[in-house]
Amino acid sequence: MPKVVYPLDSTKSFTDQQYVGHNRWHPDIPANVTVRPGDVFRVDCREWFDGAIVNDDSADDILNAPLSTVHVLSGPFAVEGAEPGDLLIVDIVDVGPIPQEDSGPLAGQGWGYTGVFAKSNGGGFLTDQFPDAYKVIWDFRGQTATSRHVPGVSFTGIVHPGLMGTAPSAELLARWTARETALIATDPHRVPPLALPPLPDDAILGTLSGAEHDRVAAEAARTAPPRENGGNQDIKNFTKGTRVFYPVFVPGANLSMGDLHFSQGDGEITFCGAIEMGGFIDLHVDLIKGGMETYGVHENAIFMPGNVDPQYSQWLAFSGTSVTLDGEQRYLDSHLSYQRACLHAIDYLQKFGYSDIQAYMILGAAPIEGRLSGVVDIPNSCSTVYIPTAIFDFPVAPSADGPHQVDPGMGVPMSAG
Ligand code: ZN
Repeated sequence: MPKVVYPLDSTKSFTDQQYVGHNRWHPDIPANVTVRPGDVFRVDCREWFDGAIVNDDSADDILNAPLSTVHVLSGPFAVEGAEPGDLLIVDIVDVGPIPQEDSGPLAGQGWGYTGVFAKSNGGGFLTDQFPDAYKVIWDFRGQTATSRHVPGVSFTGIVHPGLMGTAPSAELLARWTARETALIATDPHRVPPLALPPLPDDAILGTLSGAEHDRVAAEAARTAPPRENGGNQDIKNFTKGTRVFYPVFVPGANLSMGDLHFSQGDGEITFCGAIEMGGFIDLHVDLIKGGMETYGVHENAIFMPGNVDPQYSQWLAFSGTSVTLDGEQRYLDSHLSYQRACLHAIDYLQKFGYSDIQAYMILGAAPIEGRLSGVVDIPNSCSTVYIPTAIFDFPVAPSADGPHQVDPGMGVPMSAG
């Protein structure tokens, strides 16, 4: 096992650990740990809500999920010799749940969860169809996930960090804030909001305190969106064996990561989110000096995905076009066509006895693939969602026998609120 350079004690909260991480992006959050090019090291990561979500049959914790506290990130890690303009090479050597035999109270200790936020608290990709809060608990056995809330389904997880990235420069941070603030101004009272402005409340900024903490808290960017530094990209294939090339914007690069997922479908359509968990990640780092210019990597990281995907060979795919549910034609709207593809799949799975929210949860958590199949055939874009047939313990393709009926069991808990 590589040296643990960033340990977390599962019995303590994020702010009571040996190293206090952060939940905002800012160039002035000091690095906690320094590593060298060539080092391999282990980092523990808290589940993104720092343990606020529990293993039970109620979604009230999702309804009240404290969005101002996310994401609790491990780091920053300074890489010796890294300078603005370099590319930081990060290899994901290994990644997994909290390495402990017994199940415990924290997501990652033998279990994880998928939630859907209420429309009033962040919403999700299909928030018009699912405006309430929901939660599903998934149990882990080796690489496999099953759920008491979604019978008849089991699948191999592609474990990955939802979030990893380098610190922005002051200039880059100012650009983020300007453009996101301008977007919010186009519809400032929208529910859910168009973007999340800086929010000093609940900002955790490593070792900063006093006036310096307050200054940085007022400026620091929220961690929800992916940006030029990588960040919350939520790429399901970002697993063991992945090599990422991050632009370096500040001396030391100041790499951070968290939001580990046991599994996720393309798009992370449930938003809260994939199968969320705490765990560990083993990393190797190196540098390409001046690599941003050499390779033209100025905007966003590039990466080579890991090659440990499950071997699913048969898929049932659903398509959608850019026509609204009310029948209005939109122009090449791939977001809409992906929604329609997902709703198509949800309608289909209900024929087998699943509730609509059970079907939604399957698409959010299982390793389904989403594709932009056509983006030029005016006026309709065509998006598709591919579901591996082997995740169901019954035949799921259409046949003359009609759909097998699954016992929906206790179903998916919905919040009382
Ligand atoms: Zn996540």
